Amino acid sequence: MKLTVDRGRCEGHGLCEGVAPELLSADEGYAALLVDGDVPTELQSAAKTAVRVCPIAALRVT
Ligand code: SF4
Repeated sequence: MKLTVDRGRCEGHGLCEGVAPELLSADEGYAALLVDGDVPTELQSAAKTAVRVCPIAALRVT
């Protein structure tokens, strides 16, 4: 599973960081990925939750 951020859509609300702090940081005004490449198995549930809570659908899992 890969997690991607559409920085053109992200508005820096930080909700994703709140539910998946191991994967995302909103410190720079937009969500930045903290993992490079595949999401580790133990964090895949958190990645899906982050996608669900983003109010503007800026996150995707593939
Ligand atoms: S919840 Fe969505 S809009 Fe907010 S920081 Fe995360 S990706 Fe960006």
